[in-house]
Amino acid sequence: MAMLTKRFMKFATKAIHAGTGPDAGAGAVVTPVYQAATYAQQRPGKHKGYTYSRTGNPTRAALEASLAALENGSDGFCFGSGMAAVDAVLRLLKPGDEVVATRDLYGGTFRLMTKVYEPYGLKFHFIDLNDEAVLLRTLTERTRLIWMEMPSNPLLYLTDIEQVVLAAKSREILTAVDSTFASPYLFNPLDWGIDIVVHSVTKYLGGHSDTVMGALVVKREDLADRLRFIQISGGAIPGPQDCFLALRGLKTLHVRMQRHCENAGKIAVWLSENPAVKRVYYPGLPSHPGHALAARLLRGFGGMISFEPAAGTREETIRIMERLQLFVLAESLGGVESLCAHPASMSHAGLPEEERAALGIHDTLIRLSVGIEDADDLVTDLKQALG
Ligand code: PLP
Repeated sequence: MAMLTKRFMKFATKAIHAGTGPDAGAGAVVTPVYQAATYAQQRPGKHKGYTYSRTGNPTRAALEASLAALENGSDGFCFGSGMAAVDAVLRLLKPGDEVVATRDLYGGTFRLMTKVYEPYGLKFHFIDLNDEAVLLRTLTERTRLIWMEMPSNPLLYLTDIEQVVLAAKSREILTAVDSTFASPYLFNPLDWGIDIVVHSVTKYLGGHSDTVMGALVVKREDLADRLRFIQISGGAIPGPQDCFLALRGLKTLHVRMQRHCENAGKIAVWLSENPAVKRVYYPGLPSHPGHALAARLLRGFGGMISFEPAAGTREETIRIMERLQLFVLAESLGGVESLCAHPASMSHAGLPEEERAALGIHDTLIRLSVGIEDADDLVTDLKQALG
């Protein structure tokens, strides 16, 4: 048992045991919902480690420890949404600072950066991070942060993280990866020299489309101290019931991710061989521009697919989505049930139209979050919808 410290446990064991364990109070095998705002103190400052639930709550602490273990980090911090986690990272910066971010990123992150933080005095450059010449040209002595998404939403591109880390480290620039689409089962950015991992826990980590939450994981003590201060000061924390649900989700992350990847792999191949489909974006397909990077960086290709039907109008694309029966038309992703979405009018509506067009987020693009149902049934559903 001595060898079974967090460091030596394999992923599946960590997912079930790290950060949790029989509860110190009644011995409950799962960490209970500590639905409490405040905690009794014997004398001022003398207590059992908790004083007030914005500062710390045992259910949240278990979840944060579990996430830190799964990301091979030292500290995890949970927030009321993925966007609140992104916001906490941007609060590390001050007016005048510059951020270099990948062009292909979640519309909500783009909106927060350009509509909230740009007026506040931060400057953002959205570039192709894989173009080394452009990257080096964009970095200035004011650059404080490089922001990546792995794989990106919705076209599932990958960033050459080693190239970015090399450029950032020599200039003392922070690096952050939004790893929501990969989940720690497929990718651990901290192991590649990244400073901050960002997650929308709402997606694969929670896994059941029943909780909105975000998280950050780091392994640098100075960053942990600053993010803890931001978390406590801003107070955008999740409630204990949501933390309980996310903890329960984490315990099956490895099993779910295996099936997400397996199902998405089958569907991506089927779509790519279908004459009713013009283009498929899936990092597991050799035709995807990020395939080689995905094969090098990820431990699997994930559960997300984007594709464009051959019938090339917006209306026909929407009709295909309306005909789908198992794939529910809805925002979000990463749950056990399959979803479909129309990025141009949903997740990426916040991106200017010209930018969407330049990236390839056309009105005819459909994004699938492949669930863990039977893959044959999912193919049958797509077949009838494509006609
Ligand atoms: N990051 C990515 C890649 C996302 O796809 C999303 C939401 O879709 C977010 C962040 C924001 O997360 P939340 O909806 O939990 O605030």
